[in-house]
Amino acid sequence: MYRDIRTVRSRGCYACLVSQQIKIQLPDGSVREVPHGTTPLDIANSISPRLAAAVVVARVRPLNTAAPKETADDEAKAEQTEEAMYSGHDPAGERLVDLSAPLNEDVALELLKESDPAALRVVRHSAAHVMATAILELFPETKLGHGPATDNGYFYDVYREVPFTEADLAAIEERMAQVVARDEKFQRVEEPREEGLKDYEKSGEFMKVHFIERFTKPGDTISLYRNGDFTDFCRGPHVPSTGRVKAFKVTSIAGAYWLGDEKNQQLQRIYGTAFFSQKDLDAHFKYLEEIKARDHRVLGKQLDLFSIQEVAGAGLIFWHPKGGLIRKVMEDWMRDECIRRGYQMVFTPHIMRRELWQISGHEGYYSENMYPPMELDDAEYRLKPMNCPGHILIYKSTPKSYRDLPQRYAELGNVYRYERSGTMHGLLRVRGFTQDDAHIFCTPEQITGEIEDCLDFAEAVLKTFGFSEYRVELSLRDPKKGNEFVGDAADWEKAESVLRDVLTKRGVSFRAIPGEGAFYGPKIDVKLVDVLGRLWQLSTVQFDFNLPKRFELEYVGEDGERHQPVMVHRALFGSVERFFGVLIEHYAGAFPFWLAPVQVGLVPISEKHHDYAVNVKSRLEAAGIRVELDSSNQKMNAKIRDFGLQKVPFILVMGDKESATDSVSVRVRGKGDQGSQTVDTFVSHAKQLVSEHSMEL
Ligand SMILES: [Zn+2]
Ligand SMILES: [Zn+2]
Repeated sequence: MYRDIRTVRSRGCYACLVSQQIKIQLPDGSVREVPHGTTPLDIANSISPRLAAAVVVARVRPLNTAAPKETADDEAKAEQTEEAMYSGHDPAGERLVDLSAPLNEDVALELLKESDPAALRVVRHSAAHVMATAILELFPETKLGHGPATDNGYFYDVYREVPFTEADLAAIEERMAQVVARDEKFQRVEEPREEGLKDYEKSGEFMKVHFIERFTKPGDTISLYRNGDFTDFCRGPHVPSTGRVKAFKVTSIAGAYWLGDEKNQQLQRIYGTAFFSQKDLDAHFKYLEEIKARDHRVLGKQLDLFSIQEVAGAGLIFWHPKGGLIRKVMEDWMRDECIRRGYQMVFTPHIMRRELWQISGHEGYYSENMYPPMELDDAEYRLKPMNCPGHILIYKSTPKSYRDLPQRYAELGNVYRYERSGTMHGLLRVRGFTQDDAHIFCTPEQITGEIEDCLDFAEAVLKTFGFSEYRVELSLRDPKKGNEFVGDAADWEKAESVLRDVLTKRGVSFRAIPGEGAFYGPKIDVKLVDVLGRLWQLSTVQFDFNLPKRFELEYVGEDGERHQPVMVHRALFGSVERFFGVLIEHYAGAFPFWLAPVQVGLVPISEKHHDYAVNVKSRLEAAGIRVELDSSNQKMNAKIRDFGLQKVPFILVMGDKESATDSVSVRVRGKGDQGSQTVDTFVSHAKQLVSEHSMEL
């Protein structure tokens, strides 16, 4: 496949005809002068052999350039694209290189050890090479596609007529262990593009041919990586040798069409993961188990919270009594809080004339997500995908002066959006949902205060429902693509600076993302972090320069002139369904007392304590506590177990002693038996937990 191998190392020396020194700047700021062609590994060795053994890969940046502000997220995103894997990258920028790559210019050098997330991605991608090596040793007829690192591991797309079985995957994993034990060096070799193409064409590697043709140009040199007898077209970098892929697992397999086209060959995508240690790998699988145990679809069924019914259609949610109760508590809190914060609650129709959607522009840019028109006798109607036009019609129904502003309309509005079949996922991705939507119409002078209030409200939602951590993103316009955004540049700049200033003033750290703004205005997105550290996009606060113009909204200013109000869309739960799904997973179904559908389970020890239990039940209910009495013939322990499985926060057991002393024996979820207390004491404690929206239980 490759002849006349010239390693990069030797190329570096040939290229450097005059013996020349280069400058290497280390992270501590010190600068070393070393011969042209020195490798990062040479430098690691010169510092200490221990460091040389610990480093995985190097990051370099030409000395005359500034450090980029790229985050780890961007780096991760970039690496998954095919282009990033194969095409030559910008040599002027920061990049990862093999430890054996000769350095031939002045650079800032970082030696990445195992603790660096970028190093982990390099290990995972190297594991993909190890897997491909194993696959070809066992199934030499297999053709290789693309094998990148992912957020949780790696995959390799392969083509083979016969599908791989579970047993094949186990054999591949076993063979990988041998490849690792052989500790083969990953060697970079370069050859003329045309030579590589010829070889790959000859051996029928249609995917490699495609990648070379697509991502390199005639006359280019391409890079191949070799370990043992295996060679792969790749830009690198990799760990120094297969032995550095210490802990790995082949996890699953899925089908995919070549280039995503169902007319093409059916590929098999084999997934795996790799870590720096067995301990990390074990922890990862424990984490996956934990995610599985918290799956809201499973818990939703187990706790009888909601269902999705085949006969009614995919992506449409049925809230069962217990789920419905939690929803009522969530919505009550939200409505009360809206009113307390100066919002007015409104309701708008689910279907509205097509003409309205034409005025709003949804017919054009949002049509794909809307259900098709319904022809009625007077006109065509469409289901609403958003509440905004409805709220705008309310605003427009009477003339407004600056004294009427701000107007804040809030609605728990049901919207319907078409999601492609197969993309639905429990409560998280649905076709019909309820937005806790609000639209604020205000004067330009009021906007800063309104945005502050929105953020304050968003934080209150997170805190009340038990999330302490969140991330904030500020999505802006890409000034280079001005024509893709509605509204003039000055409006955008003003809106963007309002959002930025409010975040800064509140001391919220945020990530600004140019180009990610909606076409109609900049926005703030809040992503909460759940108990497993997962991020969920929920709250959003968005400016809109588009709809006020389209609907010709106005108010009469202090100057007696007509002005266009500023419009803000905001949703805090985002979707009530989705937020509920996140709550189920965050709490693993063990909801805090104030949210729990059944707050207290009553267990009379025997039939003769039944009347006393009924008495306790009515007293708790009178105090607004949600109670369930198990008056079946089951044994006490069975009743306690049943309530436990339903994750009921308190179980009160009542026998002779309790009924004689007007008390209950209290069992607390997760803590067990807490002894007896009087009914009155229990009631006042329970009421306090509710009124404080306590997270104590
Ligand atoms: Zn590679
Ligand atoms: Zn809206």
